[in-house]
Amino acid sequence: MNSIKRVLLIEDNPGDVYLLRQMLSENSSFKTELINLTYMSEAEAYLAVSAVDVILLDLGLPDVQGLDAIRRAHAVAPGIPLVVLTGLDDESVAVQALQQGAQDYLIKGQIEARGLLRALRYAIERKKMQSSALAMAQQMAHSAEHDFLTGLPNRMLLNDRISQAIALATRHAKKIAVLFLDLDGFKHINDSLGHPIGDMLLQSIAERLVKCLRGSDSVSRQGGDEFVILLLEIDRAEDAAVTARRILQAVAQSHAIGQHVLHVTASIGISVYPTDGLDADTLIKNADTAMYQAKENGRRSFRFFKPVMNVRAVERQSIEEGLRRALERHEFAVYYQPKVNLMTGAITGAEALLRWTHPTQGAIAPAQFIPVAEDSGLILPIGAWVLREACAQARSWLDAGLPALTMAVNVSAMEFRDDGFLDRLFAIVGETGIDPGSLELELTESVLMKHAPLTAIILQTLRERGIRVAIDDFGTGYSSLSYLRKFPVDAVKIDQSFVRQISSAGEDTTIVKAVIGMARGLKLRVIAEGVETLAELAFLRAYRCDEAQGYYFSRPVPPEQFAVLLRNGIPEPSVVA
Ligand code: C2E
Ligand code: CA
Ligand code: CA
Repeated sequence: MNSIKRVLLIEDNPGDVYLLRQMLSENSSFKTELINLTYMSEAEAYLAVSAVDVILLDLGLPDVQGLDAIRRAHAVAPGIPLVVLTGLDDESVAVQALQQGAQDYLIKGQIEARGLLRALRYAIERKKMQSSALAMAQQMAHSAEHDFLTGLPNRMLLNDRISQAIALATRHAKKIAVLFLDLDGFKHINDSLGHPIGDMLLQSIAERLVKCLRGSDSVSRQGGDEFVILLLEIDRAEDAAVTARRILQAVAQSHAIGQHVLHVTASIGISVYPTDGLDADTLIKNADTAMYQAKENGRRSFRFFKPVMNVRAVERQSIEEGLRRALERHEFAVYYQPKVNLMTGAITGAEALLRWTHPTQGAIAPAQFIPVAEDSGLILPIGAWVLREACAQARSWLDAGLPALTMAVNVSAMEFRDDGFLDRLFAIVGETGIDPGSLELELTESVLMKHAPLTAIILQTLRERGIRVAIDDFGTGYSSLSYLRKFPVDAVKIDQSFVRQISSAGEDTTIVKAVIGMARGLKLRVIAEGVETLAELAFLRAYRCDEAQGYYFSRPVPPEQFAVLLRNGIPEPSVVA
């Protein structure tokens, strides 16, 4: 057993001090030093700078009595075992003393040397055990509420804090904001560099997030690469946007991890109490929904939650379920819209446009279901079906003796990037026996701009096979004309929004003129989309646009009706030049 080296005796009665000193020195095997102080205030000053093994405390001091004495001793030296000295009549106080954190008590007049030493030793032992049990309990409580990897509060603790913050905010008529943050492409880092690097990156992110916040705000890790941040007592929702911007910026700075320098961006969704939810779960869920929207609108951005996002999420879900069955249930059809040569008025081509009739909801617009098909990957089988249908249709019109035309089919980014795309395309061209030169793929600018080197290879292959390519919605995307020179494309389709400017009073027509001029300079065919009025048509013709397509000539129609147009021409005298 360890020896007791220093005992602090806080006692004002000289007789008691003398007695205790005697008893301690009686035991020759220990050299115990007894320090005696008379006032609690002296003891406090002493304990603040000196360590002792145990404190012997009289409960009747000149400057403090009873339990208050224990409390003050405990406050200044919480880690030092405490043995209380009390008179016979004060035994009930002694029992309370134990509850207040004293390890033992001795009754004056009943103390003898061996008992005193034993009491001191046991007090020291008991204190040691209590401390380690306490530390373990604290540790367990901490790990139940914190994330092991980053040390940040976990989901449970954050929920608690949000609930408390809501109670406070209500009282102070303030708002709080919940930010849901998700890293962009974190899975890729994990997969390519390994989980240990991924974990270190998460730790680095956690540190940055903490630095971006005020002390009163909280950041928690929800799991994976998701973090939730609680901003307290904000005045306006815009305050949350300021923090979100700061966080996006901080996360995007490079991270030095081992010998790697990593770059990662994040997307953030924001919900605000009380507008977007009245409890922690709803606020987190809605911030999560807004985060997905942020990701869709381009990474490294943030979005505030809007109620329609939830409606859309539900709608999306039901659209996706419907789409999964639509092919086998033959709910799709392809309509065709004519393209007209502006010099001759003849139909030169058709654009294949997908139509979906839902068994209960009726016709659903492509703008609604195509994005869902792209997200879910269903665009691959659906796109292949449209392509086959359109090629087969072109073939059967030819077989029926109708004039030859160019069949245009829309191709989504996902299809274009798919490894099997070219093989499927060539197989369909082979099966249907159409002339590859009569097929034109419509691709948007953004499709072409992604992975430009790969794009160039695919476009080159298409050109070698004689399949044509048009740039759809031209002018809405990058509007960088340099890639037009780089990529082998055949035509550009001027977006409807520019065509609309022609007939709207006060709108500028310079863009339309410039686009037509530039495309002609590059020897590309120019097709105007969404032509609705005679004025638009006249303007386009004056500036020598090659072809046009729009409601002015015909809406997209089923194949039987299109065959009639092909046979008889467009029934509109003003079109014929
Ligand atoms: P898009 O490729 O730009 O197709 C032109 C859209 O403009 C079509 O809408 C067409 O009906 C509409 N339109 C044509 N003329 C006029 C006009 O004069 N005025 C107005 N206001 N609109 C006109 P739709 O059929 O609703 O298709 C919307 C979009 O859905 C298409 O835009 C295309 O991006 C996509 N889409 C349609 N079918 C397919 C498909 O088979 N595959 C893929 N990947 N996307 C498709
Ligand atoms: Ca198109
Ligand atoms: Ca278009």
